[in-house]
Amino acid sequence: MDSVPQFPFSAIVGADEMAIALVLTTVAPDVGGVLVRGEKGTAKSTMVRSLAAVLPEQDVVDGCRFGCDPSEPDPQCPDGPHTRGDDAVQRPARLVELPIGASDDRVTGSLDLGRALGSGQTAFEPGLLADAHRGLLYVDEVNLLQDHLVDLLLDAAAMGRNTVERDGVSVTHAARIMLIGTMNPEEGELRPQLLDRFGLSVEITASRVPQERVEIVRRRLAYDADPEGFAATYADAQATLGARLAAAQQRVADVELSDWALGKIATVCAGFDVDGMRADIVTARAARAHAAWQDRDSVAREDIRVAAKLALPHRRRRKPFDAPGLDEDLLDRLLGDDDEPDPTPDDTNDDPDPQQPQPDSQNDGEETDREDSPSGGDSSSSDSGDSGQDAAPPTPHQDGGEADRSDQEQELDTAAPEAPSAAPQVAQAEEAYRVRSFTVRGVGRGEAGRRSRAITNWGATIGSERDGSGAVHLPATIRAAALRGAGRAGAGRLHVAGEDLRHKVTQGRESNLVLIAVDASGSMGARERMREVKTAVISLLTDAYQRRDRVGVVTFRGAGADLALPPTHSVEAAAACLTDLPHGGRTPLAEGLLAAARALEVERIRDPHRRVLLVLVTDGRATSGPDALERARWVADRWPSTGVDAVVVDAETGRFRMGLAADLAERMGAEHVTLEDFAADSLVTAIRERSVA
Ligand SMILES: [Zn+2]
Repeated sequence: MDSVPQFPFSAIVGADEMAIALVLTTVAPDVGGVLVRGEKGTAKSTMVRSLAAVLPEQDVVDGCRFGCDPSEPDPQCPDGPHTRGDDAVQRPARLVELPIGASDDRVTGSLDLGRALGSGQTAFEPGLLADAHRGLLYVDEVNLLQDHLVDLLLDAAAMGRNTVERDGVSVTHAARIMLIGTMNPEEGELRPQLLDRFGLSVEITASRVPQERVEIVRRRLAYDADPEGFAATYADAQATLGARLAAAQQRVADVELSDWALGKIATVCAGFDVDGMRADIVTARAARAHAAWQDRDSVAREDIRVAAKLALPHRRRRKPFDAPGLDEDLLDRLLGDDDEPDPTPDDTNDDPDPQQPQPDSQNDGEETDREDSPSGGDSSSSDSGDSGQDAAPPTPHQDGGEADRSDQEQELDTAAPEAPSAAPQVAQAEEAYRVRSFTVRGVGRGEAGRRSRAITNWGATIGSERDGSGAVHLPATIRAAALRGAGRAGAGRLHVAGEDLRHKVTQGRESNLVLIAVDASGSMGARERMREVKTAVISLLTDAYQRRDRVGVVTFRGAGADLALPPTHSVEAAAACLTDLPHGGRTPLAEGLLAAARALEVERIRDPHRRVLLVLVTDGRATSGPDALERARWVADRWPSTGVDAVVVDAETGRFRMGLAADLAERMGAEHVTLEDFAADSLVTAIRERSVA
């Protein structure tokens, strides 16, 4: 029996794993959702839609907005109570897509407190979680959602219920959803705490094998030319797939999980040094689902292997810049060669070659979709990079320097931080340290984060407003009611109406754009100085990662300035960009300032609420042209200041200092910090912070 379902666009490296993960979460939704990581244009959403298309139709109670199953209605359904045998209608399984920027209310449903106060009844408007009950909830770019929204989705997926509580009123309804999130890691990572809560994760990349790329384009063109005909060619396969999924769903509860299998799972999870017991539980559930999918009565070695590959990669202890993926050699060593006595005929026990990890060839049947690939001479080596740690060099994950090391697997530490580079003058950063805390002054209204003060959805209450979305501000509400009622007959009894409702205005922290402008010219001195600069900037990036900031990098040296990294959530990309930065040549300081200002103008249009911290790292010299320093001062004098706070990190060295960077900082209205005082634990910083406190 084929291991991999045939989806129309699945000729993508890693897509086989994605197809399997989708199948497993369909067979056993309690694995807790799937996270798909991959670059843009890898047909992630097409795959999800093709899955929705094969799910069987379902009966729902007629008129129930919460999708109750007539054979087993939710006793707490807000549209209930229903009785068994209520009128039913059929509908296709739902695929609900969460729009970017959806509000909490849109996701969970909204409780109209104004109406509740006025009429004494609870008015609940269902949200996307109710729509997605018994179906798929698809979140594209889940890494760009606010943390608490992701939390909320994962909670619902894990509990199978959605509960909305506001000011003592509580509504709950069933929400058994298959949660599928996708993200482009280049746009920034999910925080580890959230990552861990997804049951399974897969990594997909567009194929680097020419024949496969050709096949994808061919299918795409065939689809565009004749969508109905294209669908028809897959109709049989889809019908088969749907039937097989339904059968596996029936069978999964009866699949035996022997002591032998449990022991293997425990060994594998312990061997990969994952935190907590969640990994074991998810692996066990996924292995059972895979056994059911393979028509087996009990969990076999291959089921555990497939499950571990999906359940463990995102649960390893990782540092911010670690590469994703699971070491398959280690997995095979941990699993051993033995299978349970009496293996089913399906279970081919491939002999893994430890020198040549080929992630996709281990699962029987997975090769069916790409029979031409082994003929390409280099295909196995390019294949091996798709989910392993030793991915192709250009990926940004490689360049984390120290952070690349995996604690438990020193012998596999092949990613040497001191990789030789073509450019002779590339200084290497040393270990990152904790940097001083820099914030943008004033109070912003940007996206939630951990840097500067801002009006946010939670935090300390600083006031009330009428048309807000925050929690109810009770004293202000009562005051409004009292004021409105004053002077009326019967004063002395307070009557609160919807119009009196006041909401809390709360203050928390926002994330910012940290734009780093680095002087990489020869005037920055010897390799040692540049090493200190890089270490400082990498440290700042680590800090920005923890504070959920966006980051961008401008560099200037030699002939001009360069927006080396347009603002992104990907701190890895910024680290990579800095790691490879060569230095030397003249100092076009004014051009550097102008390039930074231009980048900020564009960002202001794209994201008007996001405030900016500009960090300019320079010794303040300008050596490109005779009046270069004057020009730099001229630009600094006109530095755009609204919503931008700047810090000049002074990299001047030597006993006799010219103080040019300090001069520049003053003209820009920026804070002036020496490289030595950049660390949080420097003496000067410690004294300064104490005097502020
Ligand atoms: Zn209902």
